[in-house]
Amino acid sequence: MSRHRNVRGYNYDEDFEDDDMYGQSVEDDYCISPATANQFIYSRREIQAPKEETLEEEEYEDEDAPMSPTVSHNLDPLDQAKLYSCLDHMRAVLGDAVPDSVLTQAAMRCGFDPQRALDAVLSEDSKTAPVTRSTTRIPTLNGSHNKLDSEVVPKVARMTVSGKKQTMGFDVPRYLTQARQVYFFHTGALHDPYTSEATTKRPETPSKGSNSDEPAPVPTPGRTSGKARQSINIKSELEKRQGGKPLLNLVVIGHVDAGKSTLMGHLLYLLGNVNKRTMHKYEQESKKAGKASFAFAWVLDETGEERDRGVTMDVGMTKFETNSKVVTLMDAPGHKDFIPNMITGAAQADVAVLVVDASRGEFEAGFEAGGQTREHALLVRSLGVTQLAVAVNKMDQVNWQQERFQEITSKLGHFLKQAGFKESDVFHIPTSGLSGENLVTRSSVSQLTSWYSGPSLLEQIDAFKAPQRSVDKPFRLCVSDVFKDQGSGFCVTGKIEAGYIQTGDRILAMPPNETCTVKGITLHDEPLEWAAAGDHVSLTVTGMDIIKINVGCVFCDPKEPIRTCTRFRARILLFNIELPITQGFPVLLHYQTVSEPATIKKLVSVLHKSSGEVLKKKPKCLSKGMNAIVEIQTQRPVSLELYKDYKELGRFMLRYVGSTIAAGVVTEE
Ligand code: GDP
Repeated sequence: MSRHRNVRGYNYDEDFEDDDMYGQSVEDDYCISPATANQFIYSRREIQAPKEETLEEEEYEDEDAPMSPTVSHNLDPLDQAKLYSCLDHMRAVLGDAVPDSVLTQAAMRCGFDPQRALDAVLSEDSKTAPVTRSTTRIPTLNGSHNKLDSEVVPKVARMTVSGKKQTMGFDVPRYLTQARQVYFFHTGALHDPYTSEATTKRPETPSKGSNSDEPAPVPTPGRTSGKARQSINIKSELEKRQGGKPLLNLVVIGHVDAGKSTLMGHLLYLLGNVNKRTMHKYEQESKKAGKASFAFAWVLDETGEERDRGVTMDVGMTKFETNSKVVTLMDAPGHKDFIPNMITGAAQADVAVLVVDASRGEFEAGFEAGGQTREHALLVRSLGVTQLAVAVNKMDQVNWQQERFQEITSKLGHFLKQAGFKESDVFHIPTSGLSGENLVTRSSVSQLTSWYSGPSLLEQIDAFKAPQRSVDKPFRLCVSDVFKDQGSGFCVTGKIEAGYIQTGDRILAMPPNETCTVKGITLHDEPLEWAAAGDHVSLTVTGMDIIKINVGCVFCDPKEPIRTCTRFRARILLFNIELPITQGFPVLLHYQTVSEPATIKKLVSVLHKSSGEVLKKKPKCLSKGMNAIVEIQTQRPVSLELYKDYKELGRFMLRYVGSTIAAGVVTEE
């Protein structure tokens, strides 16, 4: 079967030049051809291949087609769709901290307008924070403690910038001071919902400079004002800066309690990134708290609350070095309700370490339906990660048994292959995060060395291929955090996806389609004159009001700006979904740091999984495993690129009521 074909003018060969896994044969029961796997990750929970739906060729009218899903509330299908979309949006902000019934009531009261409904819930909550049963103490505004019975308190994308921890994204209302800011940015509301009525429109048209530090001129694509940029040879500068050590963004994923934080905390300790005194302090404190076994995890789980609950909630970031790489480490939360946080981390990763618990029953719990092992693996693959180290952890719990290791690697290997990972890019390593075996140096435990002589985890990370950075393309940075620092202007953080930037450059934010000036660039707490694709930077910008910038905005080159749209055409691959997808299906669109309510507005065609040929035009519905062209309509403008131009900004996931239902790529805007 040839990969060299052109479907709808689409050059697959070129698009996947760095994912050359697809020459391999894929077993029939995976129901996914190499060509399909090229683009999407297919989640298969059943052995049986999903049958191709016999679809009736039927003309449908754009607006009148039936909608799914059908739910109660005696709502007509259109309102049901609006309700789901509204609930999804609210849950992305609030997690599970607020009961369904409250969200639903607020959504219905507010005509399914997520912003108004969120305001209603949040302002209600701040007036009457309910006291419920719990094991967790959560600080409130006035310093007292409320008890929550939810084990879920999602926040997003904590980043350590300039030595200070910043929290952005999702939060529950009880952290009122923080939540104000967080909610503010996330929803794009123009006023603080706690002090005044929030207007919820995001500026959609270019507007004049705001009344912040500097007047911001109307952007003029094709013209860059501000300090003239001294031209630099970015490639050689990059090489010089890294001293030959390329940068690798690594995300640690896996089921809750698999031992991710302990493993990475211990690795950092062994590398000398945590000094003995601090480690001793963690040991004493964790002992005092009756959680001695969590001492290493505390290196990464920095907040008191994470420690109280023993779970990682944010994406924490740290840097360490191997012989040949500088590694930015992101420890993603494993709890299923923190998946949106995980997406933020994974969207920025080049490679991943998947941690699984080797203990009997625990691996199975994480791997079976409901566990996070599969979903995390699928997500990172869909978000572009191709190289994976699997730490088969807690091997001390199973007496370092080779049989157990083999049992796990064979089950996992089979699944990862389906998920689109090339066998030669997946490396299984037996580890113990607690005792430190096989983390930095090879183990000396004889029960292990008698059958394993492969690399340690660090050696494997060192051996990963460094990704190609798109430094030649126009500048793009997707905002993952916004905050006010000391001094003028404000700060944004994010990974530079393409191009490079220098201090003094004027850059364009989309939306709101306004320019600002880069006053400072910080990478790993160090100020720099320039930064390039692949770098996780913090930019201090002036000439724009902080209120205009949300998580998910894209900063770009004003001469070659990113496109912004509310409707685009995409090729999607459906995972194992229960409900068929019909026109009007509400989804949450996830890409990079963006999470935006959207609707599947049009079902354009069903494609053959291998050849990409159009099998059916205007299908009535789409079911699991299908490959299709659809039109997606977002509630607010989103900045996207065609997948063929910028992979990172043209690939997305669709989620529906808490599960990932499809992966897709933008084909037309
Ligand atoms: P995370 O939720 O994946 O970050 O898991 P943690 O790092 O918080 O670990 C969960 C629990 O597993 C803690 O009690 C750890 O002490 C324990 N643990 C982690 N790694 C190991 C290991 O290699 N061996 C054993 N026996 N326990 C471990």
